[in-house]
Amino acid sequence: MIKGSFPIQKFENIQTPFYFYDTELLNKTLACIKQESGKYNYKIHYAIKANANETILDIIKQEGLGVDCVSGGEIKAALKAGFHSNDIVFAGVGKADWEIELALNADIFCFNVESTAELEIIDQIAKRLNKTAKVALRINPNVDAHTHSYITTGLNENKFGINLEQLQETIQLINRLDNISLIGLHFHIGSQITDMSPFQDLCIKINDIQADLKKTGITVSHINVGGGLGINYQHPNHIPMADFETYFKVFHEYLHLESWQTLHFELGRSVVAPCGSLITKVLYIKEGTTKRFAIVDAGMTDLIRPALYGAYHHIENISSDKDFEKYDIVGPICESSDTFAKDYFLNETHRGDLLAIRSAGAYGEIMASKYNLRELPKSFFL
Ligand SMILES: *Cc1c(COP(=O)(O)O)cnc(C)c1O
Repeated sequence: MIKGSFPIQKFENIQTPFYFYDTELLNKTLACIKQESGKYNYKIHYAIKANANETILDIIKQEGLGVDCVSGGEIKAALKAGFHSNDIVFAGVGKADWEIELALNADIFCFNVESTAELEIIDQIAKRLNKTAKVALRINPNVDAHTHSYITTGLNENKFGINLEQLQETIQLINRLDNISLIGLHFHIGSQITDMSPFQDLCIKINDIQADLKKTGITVSHINVGGGLGINYQHPNHIPMADFETYFKVFHEYLHLESWQTLHFELGRSVVAPCGSLITKVLYIKEGTTKRFAIVDAGMTDLIRPALYGAYHHIENISSDKDFEKYDIVGPICESSDTFAKDYFLNETHRGDLLAIRSAGAYGEIMASKYNLRELPKSFFL
């Protein structure tokens, strides 16, 4: 089995656990995104919630991507990282008044609005600040992303977006609001989508919606199809990048756009997940009666995805080339869900070995917590 290449000598003096980011892979990924989306002049916003590490943001900003924010804190981080306010879109079902005010004062590109109640508040605040808020309506297209129920967002039963039946009345409301300008439609159907058919379904739905709106004389300049492109967590060494070529081509082939319309994307995971690994040290090998445990110094506080939604991460012992043995790989936190993998084959493992938990660049470091009063993991770049 081939392994990732890690500068293991350089790791010796770094306190574990820590996030290791492969900037070469990040740059390659960004170059690929730029090339494939550039073919069709698509506009890419990086979903900053996936990873807001300052060095990562700096690299992404240099490639000229915009940002997708879901909180006031993220807007602040994006501005601090040097992203242009006109490249910022702001989504979220529960925008607080101060966050709306911050976004209006920063003159961001667009609010992705999720309810009529929110529209009225944005209008009020914009009036007070003497601004006009540019908005895209987040529509719930009722498309099944066939992904984990916690990360499926585009079904009627989800809390996200405006249901199609309520679209006309929402637009009528906007016509009555003086400080709101409708510039776009927004969609986001879920995350970790690796099969292209939900994206095709989404395109077809958007075509229908646009055709219906046109009948009532409504057109918008911006269509935003969100993010959700998945990566291959099983084989990070063989498939280190999402298939951006096919992904953008699906939209080119299935979505009907007018020449004056711009298509926007909000990619998070597919940009940053592959380039990050959580490096952790083995503290103990514990022989149970039916199991052998590799107890490591990283826990669910450093990477919560396995505990939160049973997510799979490929794990390698980067210190050992011995024969494979079966382990449960567990952390030190006082929760049974603090398990990275069960019955997992690692090269024979001993105390002091380093394990790399792969594809952890998205929803890893950013979700770290101090539970058990642990220190937050640091990061290391190469
Ligand atoms: C989380 C999120 C994204 C990014 O999703 P990925 O699966 O990481 O690509 C994009 N848009 C919205 C509105 C989101 O909530």
